[in-house]
Amino acid sequence: MLGSITMLEFPLTSLAFTGRPSLLAAADLAFNPVRLAALIGWVYLCVYLAQRTYFSPLVPKKYKPAANVVTLFTGPFLLLALFLIDAARKARGTEESFFAVLHRQMRQVLATLHAERPEAEEDSALRLLDTSGRSLDEICGHTDAGHEDARVLDLTETTIADALDRRASDILIDPKDASTYTIRLRVDGTLRVAREVHSDVCRSIINSLKAVAGMDISERRRPQDGGFLARKGTMTASFRVASAGALHGEKLSIRVLNKDAGAFTLAHVGLTEKQYALVQGQIARPAGMILICGPTGSGKTTTMYAMLNEIDRFTRNVITVEDPIEAVLPQASQIEINPKAEITFAAALRSVLRQDPDVICVGEIRDEETAEIALRAAQTGHLVLATLHAENSATALIRLLDLGISPLLLSAGLNLVFTQRLVRRLCEHCREPAHLSDSRIEEFQRKHIDTAHLFEAVGCKHCSQTGYAGRTAICDLMLIDDAFKARIATSDALLDQLRIEGTQSQAGLRKHGLKKAVAGITTLEEIKRVVG
Ligand SMILES: [Zn+2]
Repeated sequence: MLGSITMLEFPLTSLAFTGRPSLLAAADLAFNPVRLAALIGWVYLCVYLAQRTYFSPLVPKKYKPAANVVTLFTGPFLLLALFLIDAARKARGTEESFFAVLHRQMRQVLATLHAERPEAEEDSALRLLDTSGRSLDEICGHTDAGHEDARVLDLTETTIADALDRRASDILIDPKDASTYTIRLRVDGTLRVAREVHSDVCRSIINSLKAVAGMDISERRRPQDGGFLARKGTMTASFRVASAGALHGEKLSIRVLNKDAGAFTLAHVGLTEKQYALVQGQIARPAGMILICGPTGSGKTTTMYAMLNEIDRFTRNVITVEDPIEAVLPQASQIEINPKAEITFAAALRSVLRQDPDVICVGEIRDEETAEIALRAAQTGHLVLATLHAENSATALIRLLDLGISPLLLSAGLNLVFTQRLVRRLCEHCREPAHLSDSRIEEFQRKHIDTAHLFEAVGCKHCSQTGYAGRTAICDLMLIDDAFKARIATSDALLDQLRIEGTQSQAGLRKHGLKKAVAGITTLEEIKRVVG
């Protein structure tokens, strides 16, 4: 502190030489009010900063007392140094530049400062609410919790706001080692490290997320699940949370439910003109099942919403059964399944059939009973849209037959099998013409494929250095026409035949993918990564 006072003396004595009489007189006094005010100001600043240091997540808990003392003597310099070191460490962990990280951190600090004055920034601050609408502050009992808890609540909200800003589909929080947790975000299907947090701080973040998601905070081992909402101004997003015990602590997976799905149309899916016409024709039919297949995270639900948005819901009675309801569809009845209350897909479907529906939407076919009811509904004058976890159309048919569905029912109910995958779109700011080997060029020429618009990924500030921004679907459609229906219903050897075909059915996806690559929408590498 002595050093700081001598530092302050310098400007005051230099002021004395500028000749301003009042200041000169003040500086000459044995008791100097200006110098005293500056000294008191500096002491208060140091005490305030020492307190900020104590609650800062940048300082490990065991060094906090030492960091306090250092801050008392150095003022803002220790905090500034820690801030820069933290930004440098984060920039090393991800592909972002140091200045990009620094900029984001500054924004986060400013957001946290704003969040402390809720009345001024009510609209722009993000609020976490449980499913009944209570805020995180109310649930955690802000009043007796003290300052440290308020900081944790802010950090929790900043983490969620950050994920929404970066359009993440999942937030994964897991222990890295005994003292650190990593928070990763899945953006466009790829995981990236968002930040690393000290385990004490992160455990508090996990606790507040579990509290708002309606989960038992004291249970750290057994898997649990829950959900919560985030509100910012008029925007509301919903989240699904799953927790489980892990080595060095507890892991949390948070799914950001697709809030834009209700506004998504078939034109956005990325179909070819032929595919588009085919799907539209099938949606216009009064009865039959359209089955959407793909592995987890292949965009099946979004495509189902896109198809539902093509249907005039004023003239056709649309009822959906979902787990969970991912987006609100105006003029449709949506039912969420709840196994604890014995509302299963099958039970919900049976009740739906008594409500005179025209179009029924089945979130996912998982068991024989659901498959059977859905196919019978499709056979008896209802349009049924359903998703099934299967690699391709052939395995989807095998899966349904393996569930115990009779070939006759399958052939009568099923109209279209729609298989899809998601591939990343090239970033248009930085893509560059692809460098192809001579043999590759020859191969394309033999197949009469124009390679003029083949690009490769580079990476720039618009796409977080990944070379990709956003995603699009590649699809393969299998129309179950009358000839095929007859084959399914009568041929005993069909199952064996499908098992052989199943291995080759990626060809349709690959073909559509290649079309998108030569149109400059995605890359050959991306198609290879997704469909092999
Ligand atoms: Zn880019």
